[in-house]
Amino acid sequence: MVSYKELGLVNTREMFAKAIKGGYAIPAFNFNNMEQLQAIIKASAETKSPVILQVSKGARNYANQTLLRYMAQGAVEYAKELGWEHPQICLHLDHGDSFELCKSCVDFGFSSVMIDASSLPYEENIALTKKVVDYAHQYDVTVEAELGVLAGVEDEVSSAVSHYTKPEEVVDFATRSGCDSLAISIGTSHGAYKFTPEQCTRDPKTGRLVPPPLAFDVLDAVMEKLPGFPIVLHGSSSVPQEYVDMINKYGGKLPDAVGIPEEQLRKAAKSAVCKINIDSDSRLAFTAAVRKVFAEKPAEFDPRKYCGPARDLMTELYKHKIINVLGSDGKAE
Ligand SMILES: [Zn+2]
Repeated sequence: MVSYKELGLVNTREMFAKAIKGGYAIPAFNFNNMEQLQAIIKASAETKSPVILQVSKGARNYANQTLLRYMAQGAVEYAKELGWEHPQICLHLDHGDSFELCKSCVDFGFSSVMIDASSLPYEENIALTKKVVDYAHQYDVTVEAELGVLAGVEDEVSSAVSHYTKPEEVVDFATRSGCDSLAISIGTSHGAYKFTPEQCTRDPKTGRLVPPPLAFDVLDAVMEKLPGFPIVLHGSSSVPQEYVDMINKYGGKLPDAVGIPEEQLRKAAKSAVCKINIDSDSRLAFTAAVRKVFAEKPAEFDPRKYCGPARDLMTELYKHKIINVLGSDGKAE
């Protein structure tokens, strides 16, 4: 048993309370390699933004859980080295799908876990979430749950259709499960293809797809039922067209990739939405930078020469999200 407190990490409780009061959201960035982690920590340290490092089940399998834990511990020390005196860094399991996985993360130094039982029937979702909450709270680890179903594909999580969260269920769910935060479905979606061309309209000037707006009426209804309760948005990458264009220009093939417009996320961040998950945008930045080097310098074979530029582009992306979309800069001095 390793306590996250020994690793210098924090849970989400205070982060979320401050974010709701202050009208901003905490960035939750997924990572599974060193360059991504370096970029996240550098961007957070330079902007003094609290940050959630997310590890999915797939990332855990890819990078090894022991190594990931020491990377998170190293991230705290690295942040201090960068001049961030009191780093507020949370290590969070993204989309835990069983009690055993969540327990193993709690025992292994995570400060927050998500139990995603949203594909189960309502009562079973409550029962499994409560089981995780009862265990995690003994160690002051916070728990995110999910109600409603998001469309899209993310690692091992996938669904063809989305079901909006039913506002009439949220009070009963939050009370009986005891969860600390709730991921809801209001039209965001996992992956770089959040909407089919049929769901979108096309901008006549640029020819680009314009996605349907998020269901803010559902969000408003949830907030009315659960005033001040931390709400989480998954699948909230914006799929920046500059990266998609770079990828396509340098030999990639991502036709009609489309995400959530940043002005909608800005609006959400000002509400009780206090955690916004961003993964695909960082994958796109990484790939765009690597493809550019490969295309322009085909003789290059030193990984530092293409992972370095990828890291720089991701750092720029994370800082942009923190400052211009979430508004979390300067909130963890
Ligand atoms: Zn997700």
